[in-house]
Amino acid sequence: MDIGNPRWWGWGTLDATYSLEGRLGFWPKLHEWLDLPDDTPEQETPPVALEDITLPASRLDESGFESLRRLLGEEAVVTDKQARIQHAYGKSYRDLVRIRAGHIPNPPDAVVYPEDEAEIAALLSWAAEHAVTVIPFGGGSSVLGGVEPPTGERPTLTLEMAKLNRVLSVDPESLTARVQAGATGPGIEAQLHEHGLTLGHFPQSFEFSTLGGWIATRAAGQNSIGYGKIEDMTQAVRMVSPAGIIETKDVPASATGPSVRELVVGSEGIFGVITEATMRVHPRPELQDYRGILLHSFEEGIAAFRELMQCKDLRLSIVRLSDAPETAGYAALAHEHHGLRRLFDSLAQLYVRAHRHDLDGGSALMVLGFDGDRQWIPRQWELALEICREHGGLLLGRAIGRSWKRDRFTQPYLRDTLLDRSILVDTLETATSWSNLVQLHTALARSLKAAIASNGGGPGYVMNHVSHAYEQGASLYATFLGRQIPTSDPLAKQAQWEGIKGAATDAILSSGGTLSHHHGIGRDHAPWLKGEIGQTGIDALRALKLALDPTGTMNPGILLPA
Ligand SMILES: Cc1cc2nc3c(=O)[nH]c(=O)nc-3n(C[C@H](O)[C@H](O)[C@H](O)COP(=O)(O)OP(=O)(O)OC[C@H]3O[C@@H](n4cnc5c(N)ncnc54)[C@H](O)[C@@H]3O)c2cc1C
Repeated sequence: MDIGNPRWWGWGTLDATYSLEGRLGFWPKLHEWLDLPDDTPEQETPPVALEDITLPASRLDESGFESLRRLLGEEAVVTDKQARIQHAYGKSYRDLVRIRAGHIPNPPDAVVYPEDEAEIAALLSWAAEHAVTVIPFGGGSSVLGGVEPPTGERPTLTLEMAKLNRVLSVDPESLTARVQAGATGPGIEAQLHEHGLTLGHFPQSFEFSTLGGWIATRAAGQNSIGYGKIEDMTQAVRMVSPAGIIETKDVPASATGPSVRELVVGSEGIFGVITEATMRVHPRPELQDYRGILLHSFEEGIAAFRELMQCKDLRLSIVRLSDAPETAGYAALAHEHHGLRRLFDSLAQLYVRAHRHDLDGGSALMVLGFDGDRQWIPRQWELALEICREHGGLLLGRAIGRSWKRDRFTQPYLRDTLLDRSILVDTLETATSWSNLVQLHTALARSLKAAIASNGGGPGYVMNHVSHAYEQGASLYATFLGRQIPTSDPLAKQAQWEGIKGAATDAILSSGGTLSHHHGIGRDHAPWLKGEIGQTGIDALRALKLALDPTGTMNPGILLPA
């Protein structure tokens, strides 16, 4: 996708930011948690200026460019510096430390903008013939190296999906919509709203990610409990592979052998380019009613969460349970108020304390909510609150739900604010059964803290939440912070991160978690995939890759280990 005024070295756009101004409690807390030096300046490690970055010359020669321009048109082949830089990496911590330092030794040789599926098919044939690599690029919000070009002599083209951005048709009777793969979250919702419909997929990267990227990575939106993961929403897909087009039938279910649709979902661009999909959509809800509930501990919260998920009479839209460190993190990030609002704040604190809750390291915040009509929602709340109260839950009201909803897409900007101050911050995610969740949470937090310390990051701060859940279990999402090692060398910072990520991934797998619940595999998880699906599983995927992409044109090094 093309972003106007992009913050090419970080998240989103340059006119948006996450300021710590007015959040007076946050920085002192972070000092304490990370044992930071007293004099950490606000802009200790600012990103490099665009004009100071030097890129290597293109590996595609002039005759290659000429034939490519004949194929797609002059304007569809972009080679300017900013476009190559913006498509060199995704948005992981590893990506950001390198791009902020201007370390971009291997950008794509050009970014191409096909108009339609026929041009994509022609491009893939051209690329196979000219021994050129192609990387499908949606929003570029991959956090696992999914859009990073491979190293080597072979030229690489990044295939921008920006021009395939329309909802093609809507079937209001069947509640489905055919949508092009380059459409972004806001673009899809705006077009569906014209029909009174919603897709219901709201990942935190919603504004800057695309349908094709979501399907290719098996993404999960924040309302996944109500609307499902992207694979639950995808009724049929169309993919152009170098070997030909795969189109699955637009039917709600079928028994025609193993699901070919499921082979495309999660394929991360290694088999071909997803061009469109028939998505299951929903009438827009009359009301979204989200409220905060405080539990005395994460374990008590998990017990309540499980009961909510296993109750047959409830149809929840979201449940998010933060552990004690994340709850304390939210409390520290709260804005300082003045006058009457300050009085309300202190009354609220008294109320919370009177119920023996501790927002600084004990209690666990749950945000719970329903999407639906005005008559139905109050009855659902009665039932949900009964379950929460049985577990000691304290209802905090709608203000918490409203502020979570308001801020949910702005938090990624905080990462840039922290990187400015030399703070290491990253996230990872997994899933397991309910019976194993608390054990996995303990093992993951312990391993992250130990790995941050042993990799020079100080005591570290680790927080978790659970927000995608099923009757049988749930995902666990960790955010970890530490001190960056004091160096201007991005590769040394990358090595520090690799030490932590490796230890945490080992801990997840040895504690019964999956390698990924919704970020996918990319380049960063590929070495661990065999541990999850076995050598036979890897061989089966390789055979499929060979059948669909015999010349190895599509996104090499992603998903399958090298
Ligand atoms: C701040 C932040 C918040 C995030 N929040 C969430 C979240 O809440 N839930 C979640 O699931 N993920 C989240 N992510 C991860 C990321 O947004 C998802 O992986 C998303 O699905 C990627 O979509 P994209 O369009 O940006 O894909 P890209 O990053 O462009 O691509 C991802 C992978 O898919 C392939 N691909 C892209 N388009 C196509 C296509 N049309 N055909 C074939 N292959 C394709 C690419 O080659 C690449 O391997 C977050 C990331 C960030 C940085």
